[in-house]
Amino acid sequence: MERQEQQKASRLVFVLFPSQGHINPMLQLATILHSKGFSITIIHPKFNSPNSSNYPEFTFIPISDNLPESQDSFGDFGIVSALNKNCEGPLTECIQQMLKAEDPQDRLSCIVYDSVMHFSQSVADHLKLPGISVRTGPAATVLAFAVCPRLDEQGYISFLESMSLDGKSDLLSLLLKELAFSMKKFTAPGFLELRAAVTDSVQRCSALIFNTVDFIEQEALTKVQELFSASAFTIGPFHKLAPTISSSLLKEDSHCISWLNKQAPKSVIYVSFGSVASIDEKELLETAWGLANCEQPFLWVVRPGLVRGSNCLELLPINFQDSVGERGCIVEWAPQKEVLANDAVGGFWSHCGWNSTLESICEGIPMLCRPFFGDQNLNRRYVCDVWNVGLELEEFERGKIEKAIKTLMVDTEGEEMRKKATHLKEKVGLSLKEGGSCYNSLNDLAEKILSFRP
Ligand code: UDP
Repeated sequence: MERQEQQKASRLVFVLFPSQGHINPMLQLATILHSKGFSITIIHPKFNSPNSSNYPEFTFIPISDNLPESQDSFGDFGIVSALNKNCEGPLTECIQQMLKAEDPQDRLSCIVYDSVMHFSQSVADHLKLPGISVRTGPAATVLAFAVCPRLDEQGYISFLESMSLDGKSDLLSLLLKELAFSMKKFTAPGFLELRAAVTDSVQRCSALIFNTVDFIEQEALTKVQELFSASAFTIGPFHKLAPTISSSLLKEDSHCISWLNKQAPKSVIYVSFGSVASIDEKELLETAWGLANCEQPFLWVVRPGLVRGSNCLELLPINFQDSVGERGCIVEWAPQKEVLANDAVGGFWSHCGWNSTLESICEGIPMLCRPFFGDQNLNRRYVCDVWNVGLELEEFERGKIEKAIKTLMVDTEGEEMRKKATHLKEKVGLSLKEGGSCYNSLNDLAEKILSFRP
């Protein structure tokens, strides 16, 4: 069969994890592979269902997730373990039905799953299908997850011994610092189990896909390839390869783009803490006054629920909008990629989610980092200590916020970071062009998938 025809005859099943920072890269990856000729079925829990109408060429299948109406009682990892437990049966059944009704002209090639949905690998093993694990966070998190403390009696796997512990490796010290930080912060039940189960699935998968570029995470990727036998494909940043189709769960307010168009180049600090992180009322007020006092124009995403249980806007001081006037624009949800690509934006105060981090470096925007949890701490280390394109905000305190924004936006220190960010953007751009590392890796991935069920 001709290569192109063979690709048309290959269907990929994607399994989504239902949060914004996971849905976006998975749908981008599906779009990329669709453009390579593969047919796409998206299987997703009913909770936070993506808007299928934006992807008319994909087949969407919701599966039962058995989650209660409110997830408030779940805690940080509860939802992840509930989905891994509750979705295994429905996913198996769904794929079994697909296999039963399989058209030889449209064969199911493999299961491409968000690595957090680790049960998908067990489903793939059970149905004798190849599984591809997709890391929506940085490649280094594969290692950070594997660096579990020894808990042999509970059966956790530890790679600590197999990684060099001589302290010479920048990566290792970065990972251990990240680990120590998150261990202190997260004693939540399910945290270690999640790390162990994800690592276990990575050991069994047929391939790994990373939303990253190899030169920005070289050491991590080399280590991943030493420790895991699955081939790793570094095809990202996905959002640069997929056309901009919105997969937002909240409605994007695009009036901020006309506001941005009226601002001077590189003058605006864009502020967003992503889709999950929350702050308390005091932190919201400190942020508001820090922005009011910094004298720079700002675009601030104040998402409903940013302060838990509140739609937030009513918490802002009554005189706030008057005191900032036209200098400040507040939205509930922004078209972020478009915002970061706008000439007026000169800095991004971010929670350092991996998507936001990639979106920022791809536009050459230096960052003010205020991580909250999970890989955000690791990402902040990359931004501030490895790529040197940002600085850290230590505290939600108006004076510190004002000073940090000024450093980033007007001081020579910030100017240096902007230069480095521009350089990083150019290098990432080259890796995506024909002959670049991401370009080649994507072609290799397509070949690999075609070899699964010829
Ligand atoms: N995002 C957006 N509008 C906003 C804020 C965020 O479209 O106002 C998008 C952003 O572009 C990114 C995703 O939401 O793709 C957030 O993912 P990230 O990994 O940065 O953080 P998370 O939400 O998972 O903490």
